[in-house]
Amino acid sequence: MTSRLAGRWQDAARATGLLRPDGTVASTIFAEMTALAARTGALNLGQGFPDADGPGDIKAAAIAAITDGHNQYPPGAGIPELRQAVARHQHRHYGLDVDPDTEVLITTGATEALAATILALAGPGDEVITLEPFYDSHAASIALAGATHVTVPLVAGPHRFALDLAALEAAVTDRTRLILVNTPHNPTGTVLTRAELEAIAAAARRSGAIVVTDEVYEHLTYGADHVPIATLAGMAERTLTISSAGKTFSFTGWKIGWVHGPADLVTAVRTVKQFLTYSSGAPFQPAIARALDDDAAPRALAASLAARRDLLVAGLQSAGFGVVVPQGTYFVVADGAPLGFDDGTELCRRLPELVGVAGIPVSAFCAPGSPTAAVLASRVRFTFVKSEATLVEAVGRLGQLGRLRGTV
Ligand SMILES: *Cc1c(COP(=O)(O)O)cnc(C)c1O
Repeated sequence: MTSRLAGRWQDAARATGLLRPDGTVASTIFAEMTALAARTGALNLGQGFPDADGPGDIKAAAIAAITDGHNQYPPGAGIPELRQAVARHQHRHYGLDVDPDTEVLITTGATEALAATILALAGPGDEVITLEPFYDSHAASIALAGATHVTVPLVAGPHRFALDLAALEAAVTDRTRLILVNTPHNPTGTVLTRAELEAIAAAARRSGAIVVTDEVYEHLTYGADHVPIATLAGMAERTLTISSAGKTFSFTGWKIGWVHGPADLVTAVRTVKQFLTYSSGAPFQPAIARALDDDAAPRALAASLAARRDLLVAGLQSAGFGVVVPQGTYFVVADGAPLGFDDGTELCRRLPELVGVAGIPVSAFCAPGSPTAAVLASRVRFTFVKSEATLVEAVGRLGQLGRLRGTV
């Protein structure tokens, strides 16, 4: 690798465990597992995208928007109808008062909102805290910003993954610029409790840090209450809330997201977004504006996902995995250790051949070589955002693992 190719991209690759010692870049474990699943005919419970599209009337609204000529650059901040729909949504669900003109920015998915926020607000010398495990783009964006990534573990308990409050206390200092929260949490499926969020809020107020919260699974909870941290006392003024339509409406390829918060912070993010993409998804914006006023579709999706979660959890348990039942998201984390698999990465590389199912090792969501990666080494993330028929088949296949025990 010649030096002219050095740059921040290498930091992003290193932060996500992809930079090899010789300077070349490995493919992500997501791509590797998807390719392996395709090659072996395995059921792909690795990558988290639905195998059924969202509501037909929302699709029809996007098609109508194209036909009606919504095909040129929309306003950089997003069309007023969508910004207003985001504000109505936040008020209706959470009682948050958001000014659609100055406090909302429409983005190219939550991914761009996260990248633009981190690039806008953090740089060299700043620390950005995330939970660990974490969504991979969080670590990559922190690296692209040149900031330092500090993590606070989520600890597996019998019923849920819980925030390590002592580690949070120790991690948040006057060097902390941003505390990046993700609830409901990918990959663990945990939904942070009000008490955990209060602890994060107190640490943010104490240190002067800004909170950034990734709430893309806000509507996909199964009994647990999702609490936006912006609703806690004194937090709206120091929180940027990020979400997106992809998970809520089963249109992950549309890439319409948003960020809202205090006007000065949103202005900072908009300034970066302006030079990343300028504007986002013209015909999808009116369709999502319409979708956001309809709470029935997300409620139906959550009910159906709860049943699919139960199906996969029961199947994993009877196959012999240790399972922490997820309270939200598309995902369940299963422990291969009771089956004799101590290395989740190795298990994921062999599982497609062994029984015809693909998953993602939880270590892929940890800092390379971190203590949390070691603690969670035997855990694998599976998605249940697949048809019931696919999950029934997957559960049947996973059931063979116990029989293979001792022979593999
Ligand atoms: C899927 C996902 C995203 C990305 O959302 P897009 O709107 O598709 O960009 C962000 N954060 C988490 C935790 C996710 O699971």
